[in-house]
Amino acid sequence: MKTIGLIGGMSWESSIVYYELINKKAKELLGGFHSCQSLMYTVDFDEIVKLQHEDKWEELDVIMADAAKRLEKAGADLVVLCTNTMHLCSKAIKDNISIPFLHIAEATGIAITNHDMKKVALLGTRFTMEKDFYKKVLADKFGIEVIVPDEEEREKIHQIIYGELVQGQIKPESREVYKKIIKRLEKRGAEGVILGCTEIPLLISESDVDIPIFDTTKIHAEKAVELALSIR
Ligand code: GLU
Repeated sequence: MKTIGLIGGMSWESSIVYYELINKKAKELLGGFHSCQSLMYTVDFDEIVKLQHEDKWEELDVIMADAAKRLEKAGADLVVLCTNTMHLCSKAIKDNISIPFLHIAEATGIAITNHDMKKVALLGTRFTMEKDFYKKVLADKFGIEVIVPDEEEREKIHQIIYGELVQGQIKPESREVYKKIIKRLEKRGAEGVILGCTEIPLLISESDVDIPIFDTTKIHAEKAVELALSIR
């Protein structure tokens, strides 16, 4: 088994979930006492959030590339970035390491394609819903059409992520907000919904909605284990 290098802390509430999922998956695939060989480098999220909201993506590129380099130096065989949003820095990461980088939108694109879906909704931070870096991977590599909530709904989703979910607050009233938004996206033709922020699965699960969900935390973590077992 190869060693997975996880860039965590964005937020640590979902990094814990990654840690649990990779170990469960290794156990499921290998049985016995198996767990997942891994390393996690955790950043200080406060600094990250400030830079994101000041639109200082070049500085974030440097921090993300540095985290990936530390993992490679420490012995990781592949790098997994435990957040959707920070995949905005994918290029900087890839350019600075010589081991594979498993992109979360690519792992998600494979899962959507396996469900034979062509039009899906995307929920995430404003950065993920509004910028191009995520939708473009799904459109260009998988031919998937992505729709996003309207402006006011995007703002609500974003506020709930930073104001509650990344701080470990799970509120039933916020779940209702998300459920209503997903319902409207379903009416607009979404066949499924991407939970494109690694904390959203803490709030929304399959039983809350009528269309299939794509839990990017689970999809990404499990794909990482499959990759760690397949690399020679
Ligand atoms: N974990 C979140 C995501 O998957 C948002 C936190 C962040 O990285 O800003 O996008």
